[in-house]
Amino acid sequence: MDKNSNEPYKRVLVKFSGEALAGKDGFGIDLEVLEYVAREIQSVHSTGVEVGIVIGGGNIVRGVSASKGGIIGRTSGDYMGMLATVINAVATQEALERLGLFVRVQSAIEIQEICETYIYRRAVRHLEKGRIVIFAAGTGNPFFTTDTAATLRAIEIGADVIIKATKVDGIYDKDPNCFQDAQKLSTLTYDRALHDNIKVMDDTAIALAKDNALPIIVCNMFKTGNLKSIILGNRSLCSIVKN
Ligand code: UDP
Repeated sequence: MDKNSNEPYKRVLVKFSGEALAGKDGFGIDLEVLEYVAREIQSVHSTGVEVGIVIGGGNIVRGVSASKGGIIGRTSGDYMGMLATVINAVATQEALERLGLFVRVQSAIEIQEICETYIYRRAVRHLEKGRIVIFAAGTGNPFFTTDTAATLRAIEIGADVIIKATKVDGIYDKDPNCFQDAQKLSTLTYDRALHDNIKVMDDTAIALAKDNALPIIVCNMFKTGNLKSIILGNRSLCSIVKN
């Protein structure tokens, strides 16, 4: 499939940060926000596209912050961060199941009492059966981020695109909060994103996407219906990073 064409997507990977679930408190899981996010995912799934999800853990623990005081080492902090993503994954699974969807959580770290362990072929089979798969525990390795994990999983499962669902509606040439004449970029290249240090995702994730020609869509998930419209082809609601 030509990933750069306007063909409808068959399989997508949606990535959103843990902070997205935190609501106004900035910490933990806000149940209203969780329900909202689940409904948005449901509407994406209702289009018939296969959906994989990666959720960050920043609303609970980030390795870098946890290790700042020197009591917790970075490696342990990162493992704590990965466990945080499992908490978010289980919460999101519950919220999606309440809406009648079929969901499997697969963790990169074995926690078999709670969820399946990540097995690529099994994940693909779930997707083919119309189940939503939430990939938890990042890559399973410290010193990575869930953006990199999402990119890796997207490539592994053959997703057509990774959708980085954020609080902004795309990428601007300058900060729209400071400059009235800031222009939204409908597309930009991986090289420009890396060169201009546009932090749509961390450099490792962008480089991995570039090497595998995986387009990155950046959009606002907090405008109701946005994700679904983008899936249905309304690219004016987002920016796309591609070659
Ligand atoms: N993490 C990790 N390896 C991974 C993915 C995540 O060590 O492959 C840890 C890391 O400490 C990170 C935390 O998990 O800070 C939570 O992930 P992230 O910061 O990406 O979450 P987000 O900012 O998207 O909420």
